[in-house]
Amino acid sequence: MRHTLTFLETQYAQLTEHLFGEGHDRERAAYLLCGLSRTATEARLLVRQVICVPDSDLLSQSDHNLSIPASSFLPVMKKADREQTCFVLVHSHPKGVPNHSEQDDREEPGLFRTAYNRISTKDALHASLIVSEPKMMQGRVWLDGGETYPIDVIRIVGRRIRFIPRGGLYGSVDTSFHDRAVRAFGPDLQPLLKSLTVGVVGTGGTGSSVTEQLIRLGVGHLIVADGQSLERSNVSRVYGSQTDDVGISKAVLMGRLARHLGFGTRVDLIKRPVTYQSEMKKFRDCDIIFGCTDDQWGRSLLSLFSIEYSVPIFDIGIKIDSKDGVIRSIPGRVTTLIPGQPCLLCRRQVTPEGVAAEQLQELAPEEADKRRREGYIPELPDAEPAVIAFTTATAALAIGEFLNRLTGFKGEDYQAGELLIRFDESAIRKPGAIQQPGCICTDATRIGRGDQARFLGLTWREE
Ligand SMILES: [Zn+2]
Ligand SMILES: [Zn+2]
Repeated sequence: MRHTLTFLETQYAQLTEHLFGEGHDRERAAYLLCGLSRTATEARLLVRQVICVPDSDLLSQSDHNLSIPASSFLPVMKKADREQTCFVLVHSHPKGVPNHSEQDDREEPGLFRTAYNRISTKDALHASLIVSEPKMMQGRVWLDGGETYPIDVIRIVGRRIRFIPRGGLYGSVDTSFHDRAVRAFGPDLQPLLKSLTVGVVGTGGTGSSVTEQLIRLGVGHLIVADGQSLERSNVSRVYGSQTDDVGISKAVLMGRLARHLGFGTRVDLIKRPVTYQSEMKKFRDCDIIFGCTDDQWGRSLLSLFSIEYSVPIFDIGIKIDSKDGVIRSIPGRVTTLIPGQPCLLCRRQVTPEGVAAEQLQELAPEEADKRRREGYIPELPDAEPAVIAFTTATAALAIGEFLNRLTGFKGEDYQAGELLIRFDESAIRKPGAIQQPGCICTDATRIGRGDQARFLGLTWREE
């Protein structure tokens, strides 16, 4: 079982400004209220709120010592109980000592016994975190019985996507196959890529190209979903497919592709759409997801998932507008979904009506036909035009954005929630967007909510 913690960049900035602001030569404290995502392999704390402790609330404070009174932590535990969250104590070690001190070891058992007694959150997991430098953290979770386990990875998600592994170091990896990438980005990227679990939802023209690039880049673990089987018309674009594969699950083809490439990539295959909650839930193990589906229903679920589980998603879309064999436009799009940023609904890539029409078609096709005849919902679209040059190029644009969030190669000031490439104009733009009032993405209470009685707060289709 891995234990991890995910911050948003904005939350992390709030925390470090408090801990390392003026007068930072003394230890300082804060609390985190967190949602929780529990799978068979990982317990993931998701930061929902940062609560800074003013110096005036402390009993004592020096460069190697801190004493926090019950009048400071009890109200926070009460709030955690009321809001059904987990409780994390954070304090700084301004002298740079990364580990918990002897004093921490003496005081924390009692504190976390109190936390388990006071906080009734179901399956709660509480933790303590030491921040010894603004980019150096180390933590441990406390179980109900007083056992502790180290936090294996801390994620910080935002303009950059950063990972702080336990002790600040990854194990070494064989980089002989990736020598040219090491020459580009330096030695740190390969062990990070090897450690990542990346999801790919939809493995058609764009998704199969994304999958092949992720494998060749050296990503260690992929979770790949596609509910459809290969059709004759797909072979011209789907990487890893052959003409005699028609009828085989596209997800299964991605598994074969990974085996053939021989990098030892672990691939979990999902052969049903993510509109089934049991399949969507499997993506809770991902560090990052690529949305390569062409349906609005799947995209709307990914938008919500990104917010409630604080997982960054690169959503890819492409549309060739052609009439009577004459191209009118070819826009390709890469949208990066980060909690607190405009979502696919804000950008009108997904509309509630579009999602509802697809749900009706899938779940009650006869009713959908009837309403279509009566003119209440639009005609079903014909098969869309698609060409490998444009699906592959848009996939590559998304992989570039992924590499930038990991390495920052586009510079610290670079910001693009969306890239739009117009193949018919040879132009790349960064269209701006704002969060639309009332949109699901503006509801701060959704951020980092994690597991709840109803997954994503939705009613799901029958399994
Ligand atoms: Zn300490
Ligand atoms: Zn939105």
